Amino acid sequence: MASIRAYHRPTTLDAALELLAREEVRSVPLAGGTVLNGLPTEIPEEVVDLQALHLSDISRDGAALDVGSMTTLRDFVDHEWTPPALRDLALRQAPNTIRNAATIGGTVATADPESGLLAGFLAYSATVRITRASGSEDVALHDFFDDHNPLDGGLITSIRIPIGGQAVFEATARTPADTPIVLVVGHLSDAGSLRLAATGVASGPVIIDPGLIDDLEPPPDFRGSAAYRRHLAGVLAARVSGRLQQGGAP
Ligand SMILES: Cc1cc2nc3c(=O)[nH]c(=O)nc-3n(C[C@H](O)[C@H](O)[C@H](O)COP(=O)(O)OP(=O)(O)OC[C@H]3O[C@@H](n4cnc5c(N)ncnc54)[C@H](O)[C@@H]3O)c2cc1C
Repeated sequence: MASIRAYHRPTTLDAALELLAREEVRSVPLAGGTVLNGLPTEIPEEVVDLQALHLSDISRDGAALDVGSMTTLRDFVDHEWTPPALRDLALRQAPNTIRNAATIGGTVATADPESGLLAGFLAYSATVRITRASGSEDVALHDFFDDHNPLDGGLITSIRIPIGGQAVFEATARTPADTPIVLVVGHLSDAGSLRLAATGVASGPVIIDPGLIDDLEPPPDFRGSAAYRRHLAGVLAARVSGRLQQGGAP
């Protein structure tokens, strides 16, 4: 049975990138390890632990939050600057045992198709900072998801979230604690522009246009057909938009 042959714990970003760039060995970044240790799709030869790289700060630059990629979901939930809707989506994302270890960077890199938190980041127009040996670039999260190889040897070092305005979400699930069949998050910026994002209507979290919901082609499963998911998306999008127009009323 395949197993990990070596564990590295570099203390600088350059050293981590150098380890990950080696062509003779398949090494991958290790963050909280909840997917890599628990549910790996493929076992790497070596892992490069990111925990000594000082990537777990949350800072504020004007109206934007910079969340270090190694920030745990628990610290994100607990932080005073985290917008309430994103805090609630992170709480829904996984139980506290997982939240204590799972990181924001790992969540973005894994791109779980049903992650409500990622839909929240899309609604907030979040960007992902990718750092490579050649330098850093900021990529809109929706472009990150559209790209088949967004990292290309790089590491996610932070996520930038413009935190002005307000956001709410609505979801339909089989039980209150179950993963939603469809979840819609809306963000209304201070300038009055509305952005909606959803899970359960495409192969991953996506930005949706309320006028084009009939064009969505959700992958059906045992929890709901494509038509049912489209119907839910329309109902939830209308509710979210209505609540935001009333100032985010519950
Ligand atoms: C029991 C269980 C329940 C879960 N429930 C949910 C759920 O309900 N919703 C949900 O969305 N997810 C869920 N997950 C998935 C998982 O918890 C999240 O996706 C998590 O946030 C992954 O973060 P991590 O730090 O543990 O990543 P890791 O396991 O350390 O890494 C995951 C992947 O991301 C890569 N990676 C990590 N950090 C970086 C980085 N900074 N730059 C580049 N690549 C990186 C790794 O190489 C690896 O391929 C669940 C997992 C488990 C085990």
